[in-house]
Amino acid sequence: MATANARKPLISGNWKMNHNHFEAIQTIQKLAYALNSADYAHVDVSVHPSFTNLRSVQTVLQADDIPIALGAQNVHMASHGAFTGEVSANMLTKLNVSFVIVGHSERRALFVEDNEVVNEKARAVLAANMTPIVCVGETLEQRRSGGAQDVVGEQVAHSLAGLDAEMVAGLVIAYEPVWAIGTGETATPHDAQLMCAYIRSLVTELWGDAAAQALRIQYGGSVKAATAPDLLAQADIDGALVGGASLDPAEFARIANFRLYQP
Ligand code: PEP
Repeated sequence: MATANARKPLISGNWKMNHNHFEAIQTIQKLAYALNSADYAHVDVSVHPSFTNLRSVQTVLQADDIPIALGAQNVHMASHGAFTGEVSANMLTKLNVSFVIVGHSERRALFVEDNEVVNEKARAVLAANMTPIVCVGETLEQRRSGGAQDVVGEQVAHSLAGLDAEMVAGLVIAYEPVWAIGTGETATPHDAQLMCAYIRSLVTELWGDAAAQALRIQYGGSVKAATAPDLLAQADIDGALVGGASLDPAEFARIANFRLYQP
């Protein structure tokens, strides 16, 4: 079944602060069992365990040669030093991490990370040869007041400031309306498409058409197996960042296989 565009979709599971390392091993094993090589031909899949579980999950992926990418949920912007409790990009690269979420709305809201911090983290990830998944999204108040595009536009422009077109072409932006995260509320496919198309048009304006056409834009916010096919049928939605539903490997595998259920 055809996907909406030429970009290979990326389905990412953000496990957040869930699973100890035994549970993480079980989850990745069940997920690997639920997906096969035909699936990986159509979709890239990444999982983002807690820092303490990265090594365990990496070992399973490597031992069984499973083509699921390993991702992290956060990183510190400095390469090393006196930053108690933090983890550097080079430490992640050493664990075969290939994607790092930066600027998740929970980090922006609970850990006061602004666009400048997100920008520094994205640069650190790129410098360590990994791909940042840069999260942006408006709150309910911002949407109700009609300011959603301005907020998201500013987040994109400032979080990616100073990156060149080649860097932007290779990264992932996750559009995650804050009101849809963990709430069971999902943006309609039409509304999600409108914002993702706006993001792509902004990237065209700031970094050129080649970067905008190559960049992958995920939608995130209470994505489930039932809602993924319609969302991912949209022309500018190139994947999903999935929180709650990624904790259930069977559900997450169905999301990754959205193409089988597309209209
Ligand atoms: C997320 O944490 O990025 C997310 C989208 O969570 P959920 O799918 O639970 O809304």
